[in-house]
Amino acid sequence: MLIMTERTDRLRKLRREPPPLRSVEVVERVERSPRLLRITLAGDGLRTLVVDQPAASVRLLVPSPDDNRLEMPTWDGNEFLLADGSRPLLRTFTPLRVDNEQGHVDVEIVRHEGGAVSGWAETARPGDPAAVSGPGRGFDLPDGVARLILLGDETALPAVGQLIEWAPGGVDVEAHVEVISDEAVVEMPGHHGDDAVTWHLSVSDPPGSALVEVVRSLSTADLPDITHLWAAGEAAAMQAIRSHLFTDLGLPRSRATVRGYWKPARDQSD
Ligand SMILES: Cc1cc2nc3c(=O)[nH]c(=O)nc-3n(C[C@H](O)[C@H](O)[C@H](O)COP(=O)(O)OP(=O)(O)OC[C@H]3O[C@@H](n4cnc5c(N)ncnc54)[C@H](O)[C@@H]3O)c2cc1C
Repeated sequence: MLIMTERTDRLRKLRREPPPLRSVEVVERVERSPRLLRITLAGDGLRTLVVDQPAASVRLLVPSPDDNRLEMPTWDGNEFLLADGSRPLLRTFTPLRVDNEQGHVDVEIVRHEGGAVSGWAETARPGDPAAVSGPGRGFDLPDGVARLILLGDETALPAVGQLIEWAPGGVDVEAHVEVISDEAVVEMPGHHGDDAVTWHLSVSDPPGSALVEVVRSLSTADLPDITHLWAAGEAAAMQAIRSHLFTDLGLPRSRATVRGYWKPARDQSD
């Protein structure tokens, strides 16, 4: 028992402290769709926030719903904690349109039932305090890739749009986005003039089912060496995608990037 405790303590100390939290305030809140809110944040600390990859991440800290003052958490060697030992409302989002000159960053937040940051975004007003930490690693196009297949649910929609815009002209892009209602469909960037996105409506199926179906319909012939697949969304669906690609099809792991972006209530550990 003592050994277990010492080992746990040692492991806890191994976690690297994330980049510091930079104070920001809300500048603007725009309803990009009835399912998605775009929040523009501003702060001097954002003048030095360098995001040089698409589909990167930042962590957004917001105040608790009953207190509009922002308490900065401290790093305990394992996680950020507030003074009373509770976990802060700190969640991960995709940084969009980083403007270092003005010290601005945009994030787009899915509206969903019971979400702490999603709930905060509903009523966010100019001047409201928040903080941003990051960036976390984004996507690099491996050498030799000439075809990119993108798959994402609503939480990955901002990243998919960014990847479509960023993909070089010589790369063929095909994107699949799963939404839970028509209301979530937004205008997406084209890839060099072409409409790259196919929308999939998934009303009552488990989240990510439509994306899993797209991937299960692929055979090795559909995934030649020049192809890279990027997918992000609900964690169990992403696991099913990994399983088809890497186990059923035997695709080398370097040929796909698959990221769990959120977990349903029963597995929530973020
Ligand atoms: C690298 C990365 C990038 C991401 N980028 C974005 C982004 O740009 N935009 C974005 O909206 N999200 C993004 N996410 C996902 C986001 O971090 C989670 O959805 C997060 O849980 C939302 O926080 P919340 O406070 O609103 O909900 P929480 O308080 O964390 O969750 C409350 C409850 O809602 C459930 N839940 C969480 N998200 C959803 C959802 N989308 N739909 C239905 N139920 C949900 C949880 O399981 C939990 O039961 C990203 C995640 C990662 C890892």
